[in-house]
Amino acid sequence: MLMANPVVAVVGRPNVGKSTIFNRIAGERISIVEDTPGVTRDRIYAHGEWLGKDFNLIDTGGIEISDQPFMTQIKQQAEIAIDEADVIIFLVDIKTGITDADEQVAQILYRSNTPVVLAVNKVDNPELRSQVYDFYSLGFGDPYAVSGIHGIGIGDLLDAVINNFPDEIAQEEDDSIRFSLIGRPNVGKSSLVNAILGENRVIVSDIAGTTRDAIDTKFTAADGAKFTMVDTAGMKKRGKIYENTEKYAMLRAMRAIDNSDIVLVVLNADEGIREQDKRIAGYAHEAGRGVIIVVNKWDLVTNKNTQTLKSFENIIRQEFQYLSYAPIVFVSAETKQRLIKLPVLIQQVYDHHTKRVQSATLNDVLMDAIAANPTPTQNNKRLRVFYATQVAIQPPTFIIFVNDPDLMHFSYQRYLENQIRESFDFTGTPIHLIIRQRK
Ligand code: GDP
Ligand code: GDP
Repeated sequence: MLMANPVVAVVGRPNVGKSTIFNRIAGERISIVEDTPGVTRDRIYAHGEWLGKDFNLIDTGGIEISDQPFMTQIKQQAEIAIDEADVIIFLVDIKTGITDADEQVAQILYRSNTPVVLAVNKVDNPELRSQVYDFYSLGFGDPYAVSGIHGIGIGDLLDAVINNFPDEIAQEEDDSIRFSLIGRPNVGKSSLVNAILGENRVIVSDIAGTTRDAIDTKFTAADGAKFTMVDTAGMKKRGKIYENTEKYAMLRAMRAIDNSDIVLVVLNADEGIREQDKRIAGYAHEAGRGVIIVVNKWDLVTNKNTQTLKSFENIIRQEFQYLSYAPIVFVSAETKQRLIKLPVLIQQVYDHHTKRVQSATLNDVLMDAIAANPTPTQNNKRLRVFYATQVAIQPPTFIIFVNDPDLMHFSYQRYLENQIRESFDFTGTPIHLIIRQRK
């Protein structure tokens, strides 16, 4: 249902200005205030937009592969860019000219079919422009002169980037629900993929995604519901050094989240909850996707009694407070316990994520809520709620028109959200409330 955005990666040796360019392109979007606990802004992955085209942007410089020599790291970052991106911005530095490390990166980029746009950074003034032509010898065609610091030449660079986007693959009629399994390494994502496919024993077909590397798997559940498991191939890919680095795992998770309707956040019952689990879950929440928390390896929890499940659930609720809407399911890829329930649950969450409620009913709910718990006042001024209407799905988004948005106290907004949740089942999906002044 959701379209995959093209991916643009910025590569180049350290200090050429990758993160400066990255921040330029990502612009204001990146500085959005974070309010999900546990989510630190890694700043290696962001959304960009140019001339109405949306894309995702990766700063490969932020992917540190520890214990590797300098040159190996740069090469691996270039390989990651080739694996992940539809277009690569190869960034070099006018002040240093072409260095050995630039040549090494170029060697790796030559070997792929991914389009490369060469950008020469730090061209802060027009006098430097004549030197830009020296970079022709790298063999990537016209170099684009830019200055990350001064914001010069970024528009021309982005023109070239979007010209190289893959043609939008004519999307076949697809009414399937797209979901992904995300989680840190070894929680059992691949095992779950195989087990889910095995349990449903159904028509499985690999289709090429809109982005080159993402291979999605389609299947039909026993009841006929159609699903697309996002990025299954990427998940199965093994054996590369960078696979287990946390930043890389985050990157893959964020891409999968972007391309999914519903996200299954996989935890390992045997190991409990780690910081990385929280960060990954935080991204799913922020992206506004439907979320299901899947606790895998339940078979490894020994001496289970009636309280075991409940107390595990309490810990999860405590650690993932912002995901209070997400259902929790305890499974085992090994014994197949409760796996059969997953497709049904995904379908339900999808229904809630795409649910539309009637304005009349919505307003009845709000008016009842206000009657039961009067609106707050501030400086003798009372909040007045005029009416509300749903303006979007995925996630369900409501505008509430009021006399003065400043009077909408956080806790009162939370109260209204809870009342909406109680009246309409929105299990598994975030809902957004936008408070507007009525003109
Ligand atoms: P990265 O290691 O490739 O991500 O590079 P950074 O973005 O961290 O930049 C490295 C250094 O180059 C920093 O000191 C930046 O301020 C500087 N820099 C980045 N872009 C420009 C530019 O357009 N002009 C100049 N003069 N300096 C720049
Ligand atoms: P991924 O890195 O998240 O894709 O994790 P894998 O699917 O590769 O699983 C990591 C390890 O956990 C493998 O050795 C699996 O056999 C094991 N594993 C996965 N799921 C379960 C489970 O439900 N129970 C048990 N006991 N082991 C599991």
